Amino acid sequence: MDPSKTAARDANCIFCKIIDRQIPSNIVTEDETCIAIRDVNPQGPIHILILPKNHVANITEVKDAQLLGSLFMKVGEIAKSEKLDHGFRTVVNTGEHGGQTVDHLHIHVIGGRHLEWPPG
Ligand code: 5GP
Ligand code: ZN
Repeated sequence: MDPSKTAARDANCIFCKIIDRQIPSNIVTEDETCIAIRDVNPQGPIHILILPKNHVANITEVKDAQLLGSLFMKVGEIAKSEKLDHGFRTVVNTGEHGGQTVDHLHIHVIGGRHLEWPPG
């Protein structure tokens, strides 16, 4: 079976529940492998999360380079569709020290304002 079509969900994961429409979200785009949603607590005028549909806890758990490619290809597509022509920030938080609060891999795309660097 095509692994991209296998529904691997974690019953306790809020993002898995969003993917299964058990929790509502504002969906930007989706395909067989990924979904992009607007962050419920946006850190900029545009704040989108790109997640794999199959549950993967974080970037260290990814076994599939193609999946990673698909997720990151979405960044450029979303930047274009959201008209982030002046730039944006792409962030993948991992674990406690990285500030990860939802243990389902996601790429933040934040833009629409000038962002500070370095992060705190
Ligand atoms: P992390 O801190 O793990 O890198 O990012 C998790 C992100 O998910 C946060 O920016 C948070 O605002 C967002 N988030 C948490 N719960 C929900 C939710 O139920 N819906 C949406 N759309 N975003 C959420
Ligand atoms: Zn999940």
